[in-house]
This record gives sequence, C-alpha cells and structure tokens, in this order.
Amino acid sequence: MPYDYDRTNIFARILRGEIPCRKVLETAHALAFHDIAPQAPVHVLVIPKGAYVNADHFAAEASDAEIADYTRAIGKVCADLGICPGDGGAGYRLIANSGDAGVQEVPHLHVHILGGKVLGRMLQRTPAE
Ligand code: 5GP
Repeated sequence: MPYDYDRTNIFARILRGEIPCRKVLETAHALAFHDIAPQAPVHVLVIPKGAYVNADHFAAEASDAEIADYTRAIGKVCADLGICPGDGGAGYRLIANSGDAGVQEVPHLHVHILGGKVLGRMLQRTPAE
C-alpha cells in the first residue's frame, strides 16, 4: 500500500528545526519532546526521524536499525522519566493514534508517553457500534 507522507506536517517542521520543541532525547533515528498541550503530568511524544505516517507505515518500510533505535528510544525516555514499573516507577501508557478512526491529528508517526498519575481506563465506555 502506498503511504502519502505530508512533508509540511508540524512534526516534520520540528525535525527540520523550523519550529522549536522541548527536547527530551535525540538518537540516530528518533526524537522525543514534550507535548505542547500535556494531558497528564508526564506527556512526551517520541517520533522517528524518517518520513513515516503511522505505525503500520513504519512497520512496513522502516529499516531494522530504525525500528530498533525508535523502540529503544521509547524505553530510554520512560527510564529517564522514572516511570518504569520494573524499576520502582508508577507506570505509564503508550498511545499511537493512526488515521481517522484513531483520531490522529499529526500525520507523522508518534507515540505518546503518558504518566505521572493514575490514568484511568484506556477508553471511554461507549456502546459498541
Ligand atoms: P495525535 O492526536 O496526532 O495523536 O497527537 C498529536 C499531538 O501533538 C497532540 O497531543 C498535540 O498536543 C501535539 N502537538 C501538536 N502540535 C504540536 C507542536 O507544535 N509541538 C508539540 N510539542 N506538540 C504538538
């Protein structure tokens, strides 16, 4: 399936240095920064440096090196933030919204790392349709 990547999206602009971000971590293939509108005491976004629209695009077309680096970057951010449950932290949630049903706002793959409080249920209870 062809993936149509919009090079004007806000995260592409952050990667090009056209707009600032509050950087948390940078690796060879990933960048982590604070969300501009945090929805929890900890709200960090981790994006790959490559031009990938969403998680399935990344899984299909990223190199093994990119996938390994990105995955480890997510883990390193969690560790640096002190939220890893295996290391005395209180835990966290990862979210990767994709497409219309996932209500994805920015069309560049990003994982939200949310924590710093008990986050409640994963989804609001609504009737299945
Ligand atoms: P999505 O709904 O696509 O999963 O999430 C996009 C996220 O990007 C939102 O949580 C939103 O607050 C964040 N965001 C949008 N524009 C900017 C920006 O310019 N800088 C930062 N740091 N975050 C942004």
